[in-house]
Amino acid sequence: MTVSENLKKLNKELPNNVTLIAVSKTKPVSDLMEAYNAGQRTFGENKIQEMEAKWQEMPKDVEWHMIGHVQRNKVKYMAPFVSLIHAVDSLKLLKEINKEAEKNKRSIDCLLQIKIAEEDSKFGMNEADAAKLLASEEYRKLQNLNIVGLMGMATFTEDKKQISEEFQKLKKIYDRLKILNPEFRILSMGMSGDYKIAIENGSNMVRVGSAIFGERNYN
Ligand SMILES: *Cc1c(COP(=O)(O)O)cnc(C)c1O
Repeated sequence: MTVSENLKKLNKELPNNVTLIAVSKTKPVSDLMEAYNAGQRTFGENKIQEMEAKWQEMPKDVEWHMIGHVQRNKVKYMAPFVSLIHAVDSLKLLKEINKEAEKNKRSIDCLLQIKIAEEDSKFGMNEADAAKLLASEEYRKLQNLNIVGLMGMATFTEDKKQISEEFQKLKKIYDRLKILNPEFRILSMGMSGDYKIAIENGSNMVRVGSAIFGERNYN
């Protein structure tokens, strides 16, 4: 199937309240343009410099989401244009994002990454640390960013019950944190292999790569 056929199929499947992020990492601009011409306007990348290069080339009404782990020294390259940073996991990183957003006279929306998978390799905070950060004076002082929700990745497994339990856990954390943080509106969970389970469990933003663009040769 072509990129536009894949997108059409996905858009039919997804409920109206769920935002589709087309994860285009490693893919050439020609593939992104195929998605763009089929109506897709929101793209996700996991490497800042690759995203910046694509931002330069693509039409300017595209929204760019940084879905990967962020190195502080590279925040400056995306601060002029990034729409949402999905994987924030420390106050130190927030301070850097705030500084670069201020330089660009912008406010940047961010999500906190919560660790729900059992694998050691997945980044993220626990609920207590996230709650502490959100309640801190230091976070409140950051005028050029907003934490608008949470992001998480389930364990890479065939066990659907386990994936479902992990997403349920994240939804509960989201609901609890939202009580004190009414600006929360995004729960980013679900990828090509598990977006259906994620949506059943309350996701309103899915990050889908290979189901749109085909398999990647590397990450
Ligand atoms: C690559 C990636 C995705 C998309 O993965 P697919 O399995 O190709 O849909 C989603 N989220 C993150 C954080 C990623 O790095």
